Amino acid sequence: MSKGTLFIFSAPSGSGKTTIVQALLKKFDHLEFSVSATTRSPRPGEINGDHYYFLEAKEFKEKMRKGEFAEWEEVYPGFFYGTLASEVERILQSGNSVVFDIDVVGGLNLKKLYGDQAVSVFVQTPDLETLKNRLMLRGTESEADLQKRLGKAAQELEFADKFDHIIINNNLDAAIGKAEELVRK
Ligand code: 5GP
Repeated sequence: MSKGTLFIFSAPSGSGKTTIVQALLKKFDHLEFSVSATTRSPRPGEINGDHYYFLEAKEFKEKMRKGEFAEWEEVYPGFFYGTLASEVERILQSGNSVVFDIDVVGGLNLKKLYGDQAVSVFVQTPDLETLKNRLMLRGTESEADLQKRLGKAAQELEFADKFDHIIINNNLDAAIGKAEELVRK
């Protein structure tokens, strides 16, 4: 395996981690996004192979059975998400470093798997109320899904101190600045 670093960004949904990850990808040429596989449907504007590999549950389970995932999880009941080992290998082989935008348990699993080659970062919103407002503003979830995401977020906050670094996202520009600093180091 080549010497690239794996930057794992994990956080409850709506904490701004995707925005931070996108800013890093724009800023640093040597960073490449690990495109995950998922069984959820694409949101408007999402492109297969770009945001996710959108798979049927049957295809996803076949890959699980064949051991093609570095980690996978049923992130929400009935919805599977996973990091393909081939995706990580491909990026590292090209000499680049990898950036992950994955949930908290997945992030910890990847850190366990890749050890010192990985830097794990927890992105935290100031509080659950802020998170709720952000998710409502985003408006991409139904009321039931919103409640699911908030319930999960409350659990995920408990894991923050298991990460190598915590970035508190009070102010997006400042949070992006901190993330850039981590990558530069
Ligand atoms: P969304 O449906 O909003 O795109 O993602 C839901 C959650 O799943 C987010 O926290 C996202 O970071 C996480 N996620 C995306 N890809 C993966 C993955 O490959 N593995 C795991 N464990 N979580 C993922």
